[in-house]
Amino acid sequence: EKILKSQLKDPYPDWKAGTPVPYAALCTTFSLVELTTKRLVITEYCTVFLRQVLRLTPDDFLPTVLLMINKLAPDFAGIELGIGESLIMKAIGESTGRSLQTIKSDQKEIGDLGLVAIKSRSTQPTMFKPKPLTVRGVHKGLMDIATLSGNGAQGRKVDGIKKLLSAADAHSTGKVDITKDKGGPSEAKYIIRFLEGKLRLGLAERTVLVSIAQAMVFHEAEQKGKTPSTTEVEQGAALLKSVYSELPSWDVIIPAMVKNGIMNLKETCKLRPGVPLKPMLAKPTKAITEVLDRFENQTFTCEYKYDGERAQIHYVAKDRSEDYIEALPSATTEAAEGVASIFSRNSEDLSKKYPDVLAKLHTWVKDGTKSFVLDCETVAWDVAEKKVLPFQQLMTRKRKETKIEDVKIKVCVFAFDLLFYNGEAIVKKSLRERRELLYQAFNPVEGEFSFATHMDGQELEEIQTFLEESVKASCEGLMVKMLDGAESGYEPSMRSRNWLKIKKDYLAGLGDSLDLVVLGAYHGKGKRTSVYGAFLLACYNPASDTYETVCNIGTGFSEQVLEELHAQLSAIVIDQPKPFYSHTSVNQYQPDVWFEPRYVWEVRTADLTLSPRYKAACKEGVDPAGQKGISLRFPRFIKIRDDKKPDEATSSRQVAEMYRKQESVAKNKGPSVDDDF
Ligand code: ATP
Repeated sequence: EKILKSQLKDPYPDWKAGTPVPYAALCTTFSLVELTTKRLVITEYCTVFLRQVLRLTPDDFLPTVLLMINKLAPDFAGIELGIGESLIMKAIGESTGRSLQTIKSDQKEIGDLGLVAIKSRSTQPTMFKPKPLTVRGVHKGLMDIATLSGNGAQGRKVDGIKKLLSAADAHSTGKVDITKDKGGPSEAKYIIRFLEGKLRLGLAERTVLVSIAQAMVFHEAEQKGKTPSTTEVEQGAALLKSVYSELPSWDVIIPAMVKNGIMNLKETCKLRPGVPLKPMLAKPTKAITEVLDRFENQTFTCEYKYDGERAQIHYVAKDRSEDYIEALPSATTEAAEGVASIFSRNSEDLSKKYPDVLAKLHTWVKDGTKSFVLDCETVAWDVAEKKVLPFQQLMTRKRKETKIEDVKIKVCVFAFDLLFYNGEAIVKKSLRERRELLYQAFNPVEGEFSFATHMDGQELEEIQTFLEESVKASCEGLMVKMLDGAESGYEPSMRSRNWLKIKKDYLAGLGDSLDLVVLGAYHGKGKRTSVYGAFLLACYNPASDTYETVCNIGTGFSEQVLEELHAQLSAIVIDQPKPFYSHTSVNQYQPDVWFEPRYVWEVRTADLTLSPRYKAACKEGVDPAGQKGISLRFPRFIKIRDDKKPDEATSSRQVAEMYRKQESVAKNKGPSVDDDF
């Protein structure tokens, strides 16, 4: 550790000003980060390294940051590596001259492909030394792998990985002992982990964000021969956080920041059509009285909670299309009379799913509406009966609708918020003002575009009646939102106490639902022998970047669904549980098969209980001995949540919160929190 630390202080050998950042230097930082769990220490390591990058090779600042957060591009660009374990094993084998059999048995023994790669490497004699890897080279190499498609893409992806692996560690001195220090600063290890989608360093994007801000503030002060004050450093971090929440794209922010300085970011990097922001989310409540307690002495509004798919629609009319961000053409789609995009709750581009919406968009705007970002729900619509259809109908819509005439499930867009209007971000305005602008900007068209039905009454009986009406109208319940004042501003990416949800199910005593990741399955018995009969589910712990088991589930599936799930999940079976699965080691509780962490399911439970068999929220202090995890009693499958990625599943902290809440129904107190914490 000492050696590593000193390397961090003085630039890495051979890294001169203006030369590309050596990938080995970044791996040294990763390795240091891996040795600690202390957030402040991790932040410091990253800050020191990023300062060096700014001083020596500012051009590499963006790829360095991207490699640190395990991303190649912003989410909406839709660039995903999609590399399964078997391809990685093949590449390790072929690049190190070892058989697939040996790699598989090593994987069985070590349980970590990154370490398997190191082990494979150290037995390989080096015949010639390839050029050392650079950060920009690794980023480009990974990007090439990710964007390969068409015939033979898999094979070419393996070739791409092999190329990176053969150059990895070629210049490292000394032998790496994988039993010590978690494998040390090996390039191969971190390349493999990047490909797997998890660096497993406890390096959350928010930590990197703070380091980026600190590095910038220090660097700018240094250039003026000054040392920044703590307040200046904190201001920088707060500013960057706020800018990033409105414009979550490092591809846009970093070049602007490096060019114009961090304090000028507010001027250049604002919410803009083309870059989706993470949506604001609501906190659950169990009773109308809880809502009234929360909003005591404040005005609030109730809206129907539609049961469809969240959509963020970005639009710029033709005559203003220069406002649309040109740097990101992948985010723009030709829409009638302008350019537009539709993004999911996850910031994925849904434009191909809703060509009918894109074609009609311009007919819903009033004269004078030139650009907007709209927050809304697309809901399946019964054209004959002129009413909303249940969510299940929307599920049958294809992910890619090619011809508008072939679209079978019609949708109606229910708009509930406006975030950007005619060239200006309006997230800071009160909800009442935003709603007025929303009404000014659009013309509702029955069955195509509506404003979310709302009611501004403040009395318990009125809310009760409105809730009943919402259920009759096939909605899930109500959203209750702060209406006036600064607190009613739109808070991107926050699960906020200024938005509460009351679901009809909570009131019927059916309990809350959770979104969980499928980690494993048990073979079916009796009638179910050809499919999986039960599944092992987990919640996500963002602090340790692990999936913690929470229950087995075998109820709520129709025969047809079980068959579909079998087909879907068989394709992602892995030999071993991933090292970032936190599960019991007791033999009798092991599932028959393990899966890659890919699918998220919504599950309902009667209640939560402590159990030594599961690991959920083990570290959240619910069990003083830290032995038992939380588990779900009588869990029931509701649906697949296509719109959530595994790391957006219910977090361990949320599970703990639900568990505590059931003990004593706590009031919704405390500040808004980021959804993934
Ligand atoms: P859920 O399973 O309840 O959808 P979630 O985590 O996806 O959970 P929440 O914040 O809990 O999201 O609930 C808000 C969701 O409800 C939004 O993401 C949106 O899709 C949907 N919704 C429907 N009607 C409204 C509305 N009027 N205002 C805000 N969101 C609404």
